[in-house]
Amino acid sequence: MIIDYHIHLERDTHFEKCPYTIENIEAYLEVAEKRGIHEIGITEHCNRFAEFFPLMKELADGEGAYPETSEWLRNICTETLEEYITYLSKMKELGYPIKIGIEVEYIVGREEELKKILEPYPWDYILGSVHFLGNWSIDFSKDIGWPERDIDSTYREYINTLKNAAESEIFDVLAHIDLIKKFGYRLKADLSGLWLDCLDSIASEDLAIEVSTAGLRKAVKEIYPSKELLLGCKERNIPITFASDAHDASEVGLDIGEAINMAGECGYTEICTFQGRKKDLREISLL
Ligand SMILES: [Zn+2]
Ligand SMILES: [Zn+2]
Repeated sequence: MIIDYHIHLERDTHFEKCPYTIENIEAYLEVAEKRGIHEIGITEHCNRFAEFFPLMKELADGEGAYPETSEWLRNICTETLEEYITYLSKMKELGYPIKIGIEVEYIVGREEELKKILEPYPWDYILGSVHFLGNWSIDFSKDIGWPERDIDSTYREYINTLKNAAESEIFDVLAHIDLIKKFGYRLKADLSGLWLDCLDSIASEDLAIEVSTAGLRKAVKEIYPSKELLLGCKERNIPITFASDAHDASEVGLDIGEAINMAGECGYTEICTFQGRKKDLREISLL
């Protein structure tokens, strides 16, 4: 079985309202089928939804926030979880091979609020991401925040935050675990000990991670995570999903062959599917 468990129906602008239509899901599934993918997971960003606005507003207006991200964050919480869930549940009922997911920002100190917002809904899985350190978005632009920061200490802070996310008991899967490399800013220090410590937490919390092809489309031009990290995951029996992080139907399953190859090279023979937040390991197979 082949899956793509990280898909956005929104457009890259983040301002367009999501088209909650059968045609839209069918357009995504048509591309999935062409690329040999049997099941897709829709994981809209939490910042699309009004329920998260109080938390997003803090990221937008808090100390150290940049005007560019503030402007963006203030304008995106335009939908409700209720309409999103109603739509995806209906598509599932109609028999489309989709899963109900969401990509949630890990916000230090706001774990209980995040859990409370997510609690009422029938998720198949909750994807956790670290896009922010404090009120700074690490992946918004290579020119915002990066030039004035020390790269090694930024990586250190990122890895520690990811470890906290792993231990937060909010998530089922961690997304793009080395997103910090996105713009190609590279470490000088050896932080492998810190990374392995973080992987230990991911394993002991029983989380899965995704093998994401999105990094191939970014300046770093690499899969998330690196092969070295994925080998560390395999050693700890951390399950994996496959992910494109598509922001358009044309990107569903993009470069999935490279993710499959890397998983195989690291010794993985199974991928992790979810139903109602329960894992089910399935053989990686094109059939
Ligand atoms: Zn993300
Ligand atoms: Zn995403």
